[in-house]
Amino acid sequence: MVPQTHYRCWVEVDLHALRQNVAALRRRIGPRVKLMAVVKDNAYGHGLQQVVHVLMQCGVDAFAVANLAEALAIRQLGGTGWPILLFGSALPFEHDMIVEHHIIATVSSVDEAERLNTTARAHGKIQPVHIEIDTGMGRVGVWHETAPATIAAIRGLPNLRVEGLYTHFPSADDNPEETRRELALFLRAAGSGCLLHAANSAALLNLPETHLDMVRPGLALYGIAEGLIPILSFKARVAFVKEVGPGRTISYGQTYVATRPMRVATVTVGYGDGYSRHLSNRAEVLIHGQRCAVVGRVTMDQIMVDVTGIPNVACGDEVVLIGRQGNTEITAAEVARWADTIPWEVLCDINQTLRVPRVYTGLHAA
Ligand SMILES: *Cc1c(COP(=O)(O)O)cnc(C)c1O
Repeated sequence: MVPQTHYRCWVEVDLHALRQNVAALRRRIGPRVKLMAVVKDNAYGHGLQQVVHVLMQCGVDAFAVANLAEALAIRQLGGTGWPILLFGSALPFEHDMIVEHHIIATVSSVDEAERLNTTARAHGKIQPVHIEIDTGMGRVGVWHETAPATIAAIRGLPNLRVEGLYTHFPSADDNPEETRRELALFLRAAGSGCLLHAANSAALLNLPETHLDMVRPGLALYGIAEGLIPILSFKARVAFVKEVGPGRTISYGQTYVATRPMRVATVTVGYGDGYSRHLSNRAEVLIHGQRCAVVGRVTMDQIMVDVTGIPNVACGDEVVLIGRQGNTEITAAEVARWADTIPWEVLCDINQTLRVPRVYTGLHAA
């Protein structure tokens, strides 16, 4: 049961469904493959602390983030025991904190590794690193052709310990052949002798041969994939209902003109809450379990929706922007299509300040 909320606009996160998703992914990968939970950008907007807390209870093997502040926040939650990998290149001024808090750094070059080695030596510590190998992503990582020499040089640095080697697939969701080719390039460059990992959610779900020693799902944990449970709902409320005659216009730019008598509800969400302006005149929302069209432009704080066909819509009624109401559901993927973007961005764009509070259910394991 979701506690009754008194918010204008909020997110509900079902932590029990998160546990079920972890269990489902574990069944897919089997007992020998490790699970690194990707919780960057505040756990894809779901809330870092609550999500990480549950994932620790579920016994995931490691965490990955893309921001040092997030790595330190996880450290504060869970003591010192959890491996935390920082994606991307660490900035030189971050090296002290990384070493001090035993965050695993990603390195892509001997230069970068040498600087980190110097910091580790100054602290009298051995610093764990994973080397990223670029097989086509072209973001960070040593190009696969020169990787063996780079790996050997980094292995020679006394205050670093190379614990893992990884690559990241640029098109695992729509190009399995290319992904298999990149996997082969990675395996050839990496050789053996430490933890190998490559699979994001799409590779984990579609290409079992990419599982290797560890998988790195983000999106799948949050249930945005076939057979998994979406754990996030995005909701707002009806604040005003009016009758509108033919010829009346709706919202900025007057892009919507009523062609018939209609009833229009004003809803308490806008692009300031992370409901994209690209959804103007395109998206649908759920009211009383039925789909209603967004009419006119999305404004900063409010949207208008056509509720002509729905009886008794009243001020205070719940509006579902993403999630389920009755037997109907709007998925993050559907919202992404309407907004010409991807579900990752839809989730991360939901405002993460006090404008959109997160409400958690299933906090305690059943
Ligand atoms: C974000 C990210 C992932 C997780 O990707 P999903 O598609 O959300 O599963 C895995 N690895 C790296 C390097 C990433 O940046």
